[in-house]
Amino acid sequence: MNQQTRIDIRHSTCPHDCPSACALDVEVIDGRTIGRVRGSKRQTYTAGVVCAKVARYAERIHHPDRLLHPMRRVGPKGAGKFARIGWDEALGEIAEKFLQAEREFGSQSVWPYYYAGTMGLVMRDGLNRLTHVKKYSRFYSTICANVARVGFANGTGKIAGVDPREMALSDLIVIWGTNPVNTQVNVMTHAARARKERGAKIAAVDIYDNETMKQADVKIILRPGTDGAFACGVMHVLFRDGHADRAYMAKYTDCPDELEAHLKARTPEWASQICGVPVAEIEAFAKLVGETKRTFFRLGYGFTRSRNGATQMHAASCIPAVTGAWQYEGGGAFFNNAALWRFDESIIEGHDAIDHATRLLDQSQIGRILVGDREALGDGPPVKAMLIQNTNPMTVAPEQDLVRQGFARADLFVAVHEQFMTETAQMADIVLPATMFMEHDDLYYGGGHQHISVGPKLIDPPGECRSNHEVLQALARRLGAIHPGFEMTPRELIDATLKKSGHGDIAALEADIWRDLQPDFRTSHYLDGFAHKDGKFHFKADWVHPPFGRVMGNPERMPSLPDHWAVTEDVDQQHPFRLATSPARSFLNTSFNETPSSQAMEGAPSVMIHPLDAAPIGIADGDLVTLGNDRGQTSLIARLFEGVRRGVLIAESIHPNRAHPGGRGINSLTGADTVAPIGGAAFHDNKVWMRKSIG
Ligand code: SF4
Repeated sequence: MNQQTRIDIRHSTCPHDCPSACALDVEVIDGRTIGRVRGSKRQTYTAGVVCAKVARYAERIHHPDRLLHPMRRVGPKGAGKFARIGWDEALGEIAEKFLQAEREFGSQSVWPYYYAGTMGLVMRDGLNRLTHVKKYSRFYSTICANVARVGFANGTGKIAGVDPREMALSDLIVIWGTNPVNTQVNVMTHAARARKERGAKIAAVDIYDNETMKQADVKIILRPGTDGAFACGVMHVLFRDGHADRAYMAKYTDCPDELEAHLKARTPEWASQICGVPVAEIEAFAKLVGETKRTFFRLGYGFTRSRNGATQMHAASCIPAVTGAWQYEGGGAFFNNAALWRFDESIIEGHDAIDHATRLLDQSQIGRILVGDREALGDGPPVKAMLIQNTNPMTVAPEQDLVRQGFARADLFVAVHEQFMTETAQMADIVLPATMFMEHDDLYYGGGHQHISVGPKLIDPPGECRSNHEVLQALARRLGAIHPGFEMTPRELIDATLKKSGHGDIAALEADIWRDLQPDFRTSHYLDGFAHKDGKFHFKADWVHPPFGRVMGNPERMPSLPDHWAVTEDVDQQHPFRLATSPARSFLNTSFNETPSSQAMEGAPSVMIHPLDAAPIGIADGDLVTLGNDRGQTSLIARLFEGVRRGVLIAESIHPNRAHPGGRGINSLTGADTVAPIGGAAFHDNKVWMRKSIG
């Protein structure tokens, strides 16, 4: 008689680099296998919805191409030839190479490198503990949200806003600089609820007619890098037409009169010239926002991908302070809730061992660093050895030609701890197999909401996979790195971190399953004052003294009042197009590049081109085209599309380099020059030429 397999439904949290950090109900079939993954209905932000990528996670976690054993390179770098070795041998070799680099070039010649392939604090940030204890070169994170974060915080005083679930209580939801249908599906859940239950309108502001915009009632398509101009044109109308809430501004903002005077010259006509949006659309949008008290501004990560992104985010965030929308339920703004988690990561990251004299190397400038650029190296020693966890810089980092050149160096030792044979792992000397989130314990927060949760180990890993923490423990022993954090289990690290952060202990959080840290209405809406010392929302930004981060890139040149800051990479005769590398729906950076359903959904790498731009150079839909600039070139399929402004190209990303004919990926075109005021990478801010590929 057949015995029916018992399926347990266990709780977890999605660890991927996505603001939703969805609460998951996972079918656990046995100690090694999962079934369907669903969004938890009980967690009110997730509200039962997850993206298709994670709903079919069994396809990823049980993928036949998972790395299962440590391996050593046996062919030339990048040739993809590896031989299986044991863990002892692999770890011994890594330790020996690190100690050798330290002896010959000093400890700063070792650069541990990681990022957000998992957002769990223990597995993501633990590598910093090894860095700090060993005085290796420190890692300065710039590739994601610095630019947008500092822009938002300059207005409100901190990174926190209205409860994102309040979108369901809004009359107008402005989704600006984000494409949540592709990147944060839960935003649409709450916005759709407002539309269904209240007749709310959804307005989308972005640089192309993306999947979110297709569902919107109001569509604003900007030229990339011109959000500041659009915001100023809108605020000009708000003041001009009596929609500015002067009583609110007098009480809650720093310099409304100065702002009004400044905006006199920022007319819709001025804005239209810059952003490409017709004057009538700017006027209509301003009227709608001005007349709708409960307007919720969901401001996204797109702002962070421009050289002027901080000023643009700040300008957009000024609009609800002009209308006073912050006062109303369902009104105000939200970007991210980093200020609510208050995690003290000192044990995970070994803060007590930080030596501030060791250099900080800019994550985004890995190409320049590996090829020996003196400025990028801070005039210090070359990088001779690396351990890489949770990231794939050979595909995701800007200035790919330099990155590739750097990783090809014969004198650079690289160990990569990964789940799949990524393009970075292919360049490694030693490859180590890594666990996935359901195979280890970790602690999570939601960037796009306010819950914290423990994601427990649900199943055993396949083969010989080990967690990041286990690898660090084993390496620390071999490297003589002593710290209490290396002696603790992940659960002990979670427990200690929660206690230090004032969040109780692990048992209490596991009993709650997740904890909702959203403060009360008055606090979330800043009705007792904004988070600056003077309690005001700042229309006048202080870029030279940002609230966090390392000052970089001439912030004294940034306009303090909202404006169009013309520092984006301007097109010229040789490079007449602007390229943005917006996120694809079925990939998450390069996670999910390996799953067949994501590959099938995304197809070959392609670029959206306005038909009127394609015609003069003889490009038809489906043609192979090459894009290029001083940094490199890449080839992809032309998709003729009227939903972009003339002169703008959109390549939804990130496909593996090898998926592009010629093997050069989209980040061959993107730049790593420092974005003010605290660093960043301007992935949507590239001038390029385009030609039809022959043959
Ligand atoms: S929407 Fe984001 S957080 Fe939610 S399951 Fe998908 S990738 Fe994970």
